[in-house]
Amino acid sequence: MKLRSLSIFLTALVTATPALARDGNVLIHGARVFDGTRMLGVRDVLVTDGRIAAMARRLRAPAGIETVEAKGRVLIPGLIDGHVHVFPGAQADALRFGVTTVFDMYSIADRPTIDRWRAQRASVGKVAEADTYTAGVGATPPGGHPMELFKDMPAGMAMPPTLAPGDDADAFMRARVAAGSDYIKVLQDDGTRPGRSASLPAFTPKRFVAALTAAKATGKRVVVHIQQLADARIAVSNGADALEHAVCDAPVDDALIAAMKARGVAQTATLATYAGLAGADDARRLAADPAIAPYLTARQKGMLGLVWKRQRSADFAMASANTGRLARAGVTIIAGTDTPNPTTAFGASLHLELALLVRAGLTPMQALASATSAPATFFGTADRGRIAPGSKADMLLLDGDPTRDITATRRIVTIWKNGYIVDRTPR
Ligand SMILES: [Zn+2]
Repeated sequence: MKLRSLSIFLTALVTATPALARDGNVLIHGARVFDGTRMLGVRDVLVTDGRIAAMARRLRAPAGIETVEAKGRVLIPGLIDGHVHVFPGAQADALRFGVTTVFDMYSIADRPTIDRWRAQRASVGKVAEADTYTAGVGATPPGGHPMELFKDMPAGMAMPPTLAPGDDADAFMRARVAAGSDYIKVLQDDGTRPGRSASLPAFTPKRFVAALTAAKATGKRVVVHIQQLADARIAVSNGADALEHAVCDAPVDDALIAAMKARGVAQTATLATYAGLAGADDARRLAADPAIAPYLTARQKGMLGLVWKRQRSADFAMASANTGRLARAGVTIIAGTDTPNPTTAFGASLHLELALLVRAGLTPMQALASATSAPATFFGTADRGRIAPGSKADMLLLDGDPTRDITATRRIVTIWKNGYIVDRTPR
């Protein structure tokens, strides 16, 4: 009781200090710090001009910089969703849930939009949206996934380009780089699953290899949409840097695991979307979580509350089991939700993805790394995903320890983006 009143008194003293605070500058005092890879213990973290300037057991706030008392709380890097498809409002929704960077995995965004995303990434000013990286348009054959989703495009809008059998794959990939793709997406999926026959055009194995080879030749990271084991094998042996979506038609075998480890191929599992397609009620329970509900827009509540009519529970179970197997074998796992698929919402669903990764067999620490340091390392974006001097001051202060209970990522006290406190009011 005595200690408690002392700390309340000290907190009162700190908050009563004349507010000379400049935005983008703060000293966070006394929180336990998870730096993106491990729990460091109690550290003071100093932010100046939007970046982490110093971290030590004890730091003094320079004149004019406000101290935030964070004793008993846990500070983690801003979260990264490694697989989304950006739609209007996506990045603002993401930021409200502590997702400070998103990796878009197929987008028809135009060059001015991509250039605006690039400018925001490079800045440390006050922003209202998560930072965005994008694959731009991915390589798929005419009519192949995701072209079926573009059928209802408004009249007059151009369909995104595809890689037809006679096309020059190298020219297609060079055009992606010229259009602003930060990495190259290749998609191979004919819709075959246990009990379901092929429903979509896909590359022949030879054309799939040609697409992968041309993508690799750009020097960019190559991320490959697969869902079937046979396609995963071809992708891994022909230059894929990451598999997007866990294999869901068969168990991953030792040969594939060994090849992924030898070549450093990462896995983005997208379990939140698999769960939704399986008709699981995880998304509805997420929407009802008192730590999540107040920050959801009506539209997000609608998305999370959808009951998907196509039940694919076998796919979800297989995807989860395969993700756990890869994680235990030491393959890099990247957290990605595949929002806005049915039953997902930008930002909020990443907290479900983390819980599903733990349920699949990752430790809470591995799951946290999969949404912080792992994607930052994989995509070569060294200025984020870690609490370390030089990093962008993208951070979450939590009421709870997510290295013990992963759902503590939802109990957000404060979100800083570039050192500025994020307004979590849904709009
Ligand atoms: Zn996707």
